[in-house]
Amino acid sequence: MDKRKILVIYTGGTIGMMMDPESKALVPFEFKNIHQQLPMLHLIDAEITFQDMLPLIDSSDTNPDFWIRLAKMIKDGYDQYDGFVILHGTDTMAYTASALSFLLENLAKPVILTGAQLPLGVIRTDGRRNILNAIAIAADYNDNAPMVQEVCIYFQNNLYRGNRSYKDDASKFNAFGSPNYPKLAEVNTYVEYHKSCLHRALGNKSLIAHDSMDDNVAVLKIFPGIRCSLLESVFDAPGLRAVVMETFGVGNAPTSEEFTQILRKAVEKGIIIVNITQCKNGGSVEMGRYLTGKHLADVGVISGYDMTTEAAVTKLMYLLGQNLTVPEIKTLMGQSLRGELTKE
Ligand code: ASP
Repeated sequence: MDKRKILVIYTGGTIGMMMDPESKALVPFEFKNIHQQLPMLHLIDAEITFQDMLPLIDSSDTNPDFWIRLAKMIKDGYDQYDGFVILHGTDTMAYTASALSFLLENLAKPVILTGAQLPLGVIRTDGRRNILNAIAIAADYNDNAPMVQEVCIYFQNNLYRGNRSYKDDASKFNAFGSPNYPKLAEVNTYVEYHKSCLHRALGNKSLIAHDSMDDNVAVLKIFPGIRCSLLESVFDAPGLRAVVMETFGVGNAPTSEEFTQILRKAVEKGIIIVNITQCKNGGSVEMGRYLTGKHLADVGVISGYDMTTEAAVTKLMYLLGQNLTVPEIKTLMGQSLRGELTKE
């Protein structure tokens, strides 16, 4: 059988840096010389093509246009390649993974994002293993079907569903977590897939790469003492269509009439408010559990269940870009489109 063909798209971030011998500063290295950095690439039983996505960026500069370009690159290479690896800065990798999961409808091949906490060109880098393992997993097929058929993040021996992950450590090599969904695979002396957790693409539908997102979205983190004037200024932002409201515990927020009235007015104006918990290590929104959450449901705030903020923001941007009505978007926000949420 021919070797599996893997496209590795380099977008920027720490992973692609090396120490400039003269200035001793970190500078991007040219990926066409990747084999010097990673001679072990030859050991992977796959034909690997590297492609830069220019301009290279620090991932703080990702945005919907970048995600749409990336989705298009995958669509353009979809028939030619068996799997895709995206080298990306870690800071916003979970946003990009979530956005791609929504933009790539009917995806049936692996799209694996990875990066590094330390540049590839330094001795203790985690990038080397991350790249090699991500490529090996992208090339892993069984009975002519890819083991992975969805958008994932591979980091420090773990494979996570992309739209369930978030960056949870700024300096440890183990930088990602997926609190509300199990790891898809763990790499030890062998790759252990958790098969019941892997998404299986059904039927033979062709891939759609959506090319529209609407970024008229805000994230509002509630804190004790938050001023109503601040809330008002957020909800009055010109063009605003949706807000991810990060609340306490299982979806609770202050109960003052002034606070509630601002939310009510926003919902009446057609702004979609999605309730997401601030608790990063797990749990789901249940607005009926306490009175401090029930008043939110009563004014029309919708539950984001156990979605990450990253998934909720990018899902809203995707749905708002699809010519749907507000009630349709609200319904879809409460459904799992790509495995991003679980309802108890
Ligand atoms: N600031 C970098 C980025 O996200 C950090 C990294 O690559 O890990 O692009």
